[in-house]
Amino acid sequence: MTRINDDWLTAPAAQAVCAMLTDAGFQALFVGGCVRNALLGVPISDIDISTNATPDQVIAAAKRAGFKSVPTGYDHGTVTVVVDHEPFEITTFRKDVETDGRRAVVAFAKTAEEDAHRRDFTMNALYARPDGAIVDPLGGLEDLRARYLRFIDVAEDRIREDYLRILRFFRFHAHYGNPEGGLDAEGLAAIAANSAGLETLSAERVGSEMRKLLLAPNPSQSLASMAQCGVLARVLPGAEARFLPVLVHLEEQAGLAPDAMRRLVCLGGEGLKDRLRLSNGEAKQLDQLRDALADTAGDAELAYRLGADRARDVALLRAAMTDGQMPGELEQRLVSGDQARGTFPVSAQDLMPAHQGAALGARLKELEARWIASGFALTKEELLA
Ligand code: ATP
Ligand code: MG
Repeated sequence: MTRINDDWLTAPAAQAVCAMLTDAGFQALFVGGCVRNALLGVPISDIDISTNATPDQVIAAAKRAGFKSVPTGYDHGTVTVVVDHEPFEITTFRKDVETDGRRAVVAFAKTAEEDAHRRDFTMNALYARPDGAIVDPLGGLEDLRARYLRFIDVAEDRIREDYLRILRFFRFHAHYGNPEGGLDAEGLAAIAANSAGLETLSAERVGSEMRKLLLAPNPSQSLASMAQCGVLARVLPGAEARFLPVLVHLEEQAGLAPDAMRRLVCLGGEGLKDRLRLSNGEAKQLDQLRDALADTAGDAELAYRLGADRARDVALLRAAMTDGQMPGELEQRLVSGDQARGTFPVSAQDLMPAHQGAALGARLKELEARWIASGFALTKEELLA
């Protein structure tokens, strides 16, 4: 029998939440990403628990056990129980009853097997008992071992219930799939035939999914496949996947962690801010990178204007989108530009009263340009001479 034995599972808080349910006569099964990732030996992001208790029964059991509960998704069966400041999402077994394509409409179910059928992919329909024993109603373990992402039952049905599953397919392949095996052909065919449904999704859901996809160590194969089956043009009109593999390679060489905005700029496309509901901070980063890419300023000047990290991103993007070669001695220029920030030796004061208003601004700009061109070497006296 397969068993997992990770610290998060044996931790007193997780065991206490399970006991809270089982002591009340209900089942407690860990499910989804935590089980999948434990089996893969990679870190988990959150702990989801499924149960045959209804949300009201979960709330009552939490109360008896003295734990705080929050009905975070009461209508679709989710109650969050907090133990030792740690949140556990407890969701009642569910089954799909009807579909509107934007979110599956579900009813409560009695068994884990029914619950498994309403999930998206076989590797996401793995459960673990409180003692770590794996429950695998749909053969997800075999697919997980092969790192093969497969829709549960009929791919087309799964997609029509919730079009976000199209993007999740590419996201999970990017993170956990086997690049040698490629993507599942039945899944891809069903996606290609149903990609129009993506238009019905909210920008918020699309944005959150695309961010997670772009943060995979190497999302290139997924993005290339999305371009090929028409998904990329739906979610990011005008975007192109062909420069991404080079960017990812250069990032690896430079030892840089994945960055969603850097990668997004590499894809390009129109209306990204609205289509992905970017935050103000993200939109600002995106604009800075795009403006700098369109500009002819050198690396040192960009580091002076934007800081070394942003300027390094621009250098990577420029290389990825041209000949793939990084310029020599880049780091030295980035350091010199970065260190020069805030040290321009001339102030408005120095130019008054000879210069006023717009002419003053223009003169300052001109001197700053000369100073930058000198490698930040000219002194105030030299500049004013
Ligand atoms: P991670 O949390 O690491 O991103 P995850 O697999 O836990 O990955 P979640 O979004 O937390 O993903 O969802 C938990 C589980 O709920 C999934 O593993 C899957 O079984 C199910 N699930 C989530 N979203 C959907 C969906 N849109 N359609 C079908 N099942 C879903
Ligand atoms: Mg999760």
